[in-house]
Amino acid sequence: MLITLANGRKIPVEMHRIKIVQKMNLLPSKERLESLSAVGYNTFLLPAREVFLDWLTDSGTNAMSDNQLAAMMVADDAYAGSESFYRLAKSVKNVFGFDQTLPVHQGRAAEHLLVKVFVKPGQVVVGNYHFPSTRVHVELAGSHILDLVPDDSLIPQGSAPFKGNIDIQKLKNAIEQHGADKVAFVRMEATTNLIGGQPFSMQNLREVKKIAAAHKIPLFIDGSLIGENAYFIKQREAGYADKSLREILKEMMSYADLYYMSARKSASARGGLIATNNPEWFSHLMNWLPVYEGFSTYGGMSTKEMEAIAVGLEEMTDPEVAGSSPEYIRYFAERLQELGVPVVTPPGGLACHLDAKAFLPHIPSLQYPAECLNAAMYLVSGARGVERGTMSEDRDPKTHKEVTARMELVRIAIPRRAVTIGQIEYVADRVAWLHKHKDLIGGLTFTEEPPVMRFFFGKLKPVGGDWGTKVVEAFQKDFGKEL
Ligand SMILES: *Cc1c(COP(=O)(O)O)cnc(C)c1O
Repeated sequence: MLITLANGRKIPVEMHRIKIVQKMNLLPSKERLESLSAVGYNTFLLPAREVFLDWLTDSGTNAMSDNQLAAMMVADDAYAGSESFYRLAKSVKNVFGFDQTLPVHQGRAAEHLLVKVFVKPGQVVVGNYHFPSTRVHVELAGSHILDLVPDDSLIPQGSAPFKGNIDIQKLKNAIEQHGADKVAFVRMEATTNLIGGQPFSMQNLREVKKIAAAHKIPLFIDGSLIGENAYFIKQREAGYADKSLREILKEMMSYADLYYMSARKSASARGGLIATNNPEWFSHLMNWLPVYEGFSTYGGMSTKEMEAIAVGLEEMTDPEVAGSSPEYIRYFAERLQELGVPVVTPPGGLACHLDAKAFLPHIPSLQYPAECLNAAMYLVSGARGVERGTMSEDRDPKTHKEVTARMELVRIAIPRRAVTIGQIEYVADRVAWLHKHKDLIGGLTFTEEPPVMRFFFGKLKPVGGDWGTKVVEAFQKDFGKEL
């Protein structure tokens, strides 16, 4: 529940009891420096046991409810016709209103099937903003993606409440330029992951649907973070404050010709699904399901996972659940702003994002400021986020030149129902300390650079001397050697 304190500050107060916990470990800063050096300053390569607060992602890291765990115990392990599948399909019908459900092992598996069935070489897929796995699937099919968010959605410190909207003029232009028959589908991502978990509005969805329908272009919703998008519509859009999340979700889906999701995020489970009311598309997609995923009543998932999703989707319609991550992110972002740290605004749905370009203006893009900041944050707090900037880009396949990212962000993901205000206060304090000592932080350069997805496995070293040691020495002077 969102509570306003006597001093005016709004804090989320948990409406759940914490019944199971996992012990964590905070290595002292000197050992963190050794760990970081051993993995070439790439926090992605740190063993989780060496991380205190692992805020790399909100994918598959959310706390599950007692009812989800209980449902997993009664899963029906039938290969064909499992009762667990029928429970999942019923929940999809209840929450989203679709008659047909196809289970898949995770979100990118849904994208693989959709691209296989709907995208032909030379076509384009248009949308608000792509997700990395979507882009790769679409490009492998000989097509490409057009990102159509308004220009100011890419300004980190903005004020537009719906940065995930499609710019209607850009959509009209794209359809005119390519021809409606060359647009495979319109893809609305709820909420747009890569630009900070930013939502689209119902009004925008309605307008996009109108244009797509007029040109007979199908509209697909990628709803991996659908609970959060619905929550933001309720909070931020005129006319929706008194509507329930169920009503909002149903209205959203009334504009979608097809829906798919990773269940690892909003549904607080793992796995994924595709849903539609179009029987022809359904049978088309279903034909491919056994080839890539598994039989149509499990789709590569364990039956336990289907049970967890079935319950997770129903629970996601509770604002306490859908709002859990957004309210902690808002609190985190507000605290950081009060402490003078540049963050992405307005706060979004999956993570608090530090604006590394503004934080470390002395580090050029090609020395990966976002990973420098992420690594430094690990040194002073034991928390890890993930780099979302130039290091996450790959080199141009033709010219082999580096591609600089439009934004340099450190994404500090907030897993649902798994984070406390104390933990947020701690990290905010350490990040603010870093901001005061930002001149200690230097750049990074690759020592091992993989040809694709280099942010996963690449190794780097500090540029111009060992700045990691300098950060740790200054930190120890202020906080002691134990922390
Ligand atoms: C996570 C995500 C995916 C991919 O899902 P996986 O389950 O990780 O394969 C696709 N789209 C969006 C918007 C996502 O957030």
